[in-house]
Amino acid sequence: MKRRAVVAGAGGFVGHHLVRFLKSNGYWVRGVDLKAPEYAETDADEFELLDLREWDNCLKATREVDHVYQLAADMGGIGFITAFRADVARNNVLINAHMLEAAHQNAVSRYFYSSSACIYPMFKQHEPDVTPLKEEDAYPADPEEGYGWEKLYAEKLSQYYTDEGKLETRVARFHNIYGPLGTYEGGREKAPAAICRKVACAADGDEIEIWGDGQQTRSFTYIDDCVEGIERLMRSNHRMPLNLGSDRLISVDGLVDLVTSIAGKTLRKRHDTSKPQGVRGRNSDNSRCRQVLGWEPSTTLEEGLRQTYAWIASRHDVLDRSPTATTSNG
Ligand code: NAD
Repeated sequence: MKRRAVVAGAGGFVGHHLVRFLKSNGYWVRGVDLKAPEYAETDADEFELLDLREWDNCLKATREVDHVYQLAADMGGIGFITAFRADVARNNVLINAHMLEAAHQNAVSRYFYSSSACIYPMFKQHEPDVTPLKEEDAYPADPEEGYGWEKLYAEKLSQYYTDEGKLETRVARFHNIYGPLGTYEGGREKAPAAICRKVACAADGDEIEIWGDGQQTRSFTYIDDCVEGIERLMRSNHRMPLNLGSDRLISVDGLVDLVTSIAGKTLRKRHDTSKPQGVRGRNSDNSRCRQVLGWEPSTTLEEGLRQTYAWIASRHDVLDRSPTATTSNG
């Protein structure tokens, strides 16, 4: 018998790739989202357009499956999540509370929840040269307003369902996932995609706008590593939240330099410090990931960005535009 899974958020970036990964690993897959994937056909066996803020829709989404992968969320880069805190928090609370209970009532055997590095305390992320964040650093809590608080609470809700024997949950904290087929314009895009778009649009010698002073640091995780990590965590016995991220720290300026060298262009940077830039520095400590999964993300940033840049640059509509839109990082 094929294992059956539902991917909630299958119209989005990570969800779309996860559907493809599960299909290639022999699963029967239902995709669920408010919208179909924007840039490629889904590989799902069936795809249902459902608003998962609604209880009845969550019951429908989680029927007759073994695994639930909960990736649906109202989210975007730092510009988006700081501008719409009320909507983001309310929508995601509804989705996560209903999905957990629906999965329990439908007696699914395992439930995956996609949390975020945005749950880590702001007070530990004031320096660009930041100490990598361990799972236990999450408390005392001081997460990103709105989006981060909601993620942290949904982690707790997942834990309560597991503690009471209602549902076997697994929780990963993603650190800046990037790759082809991700949003690269419109306000929800993250730094790697926004930078690739600006570099693709620019002519050699042009100037591009960067949010913040460019010294803020992050680590970036390639999408193939992300979906592999999700499945490894799902198969593991680890019930506590786990970092899923690269531990290579790089500044936003460093990221821009990598992309421009991949593009073979020389560009000038104009820093706009009036724009939101999130925490000053953030990195993943992968000790527990290595210990629990015997594995960690390994795709180099150079290789991942090459794939991402090639895809964004190949989108004809991108090349027709000027590089005026935003560059954000979560
Ligand atoms: P995404 O925005 O591409 O995908 C999320 C999907 O959820 C979208 O397709 C959206 O339409 C769908 N959705 C939103 N509201 C919905 C609703 N009411 N009902 C049904 N579907 C709804 O984001 P992503 O990058 O693929 O992220 C997937 C998950 O991983 C999210 O939970 C996100 O918070 C988390 N995460 C992502 C990153 C990252 O760097 N991409 C980092 C940390 C955490």
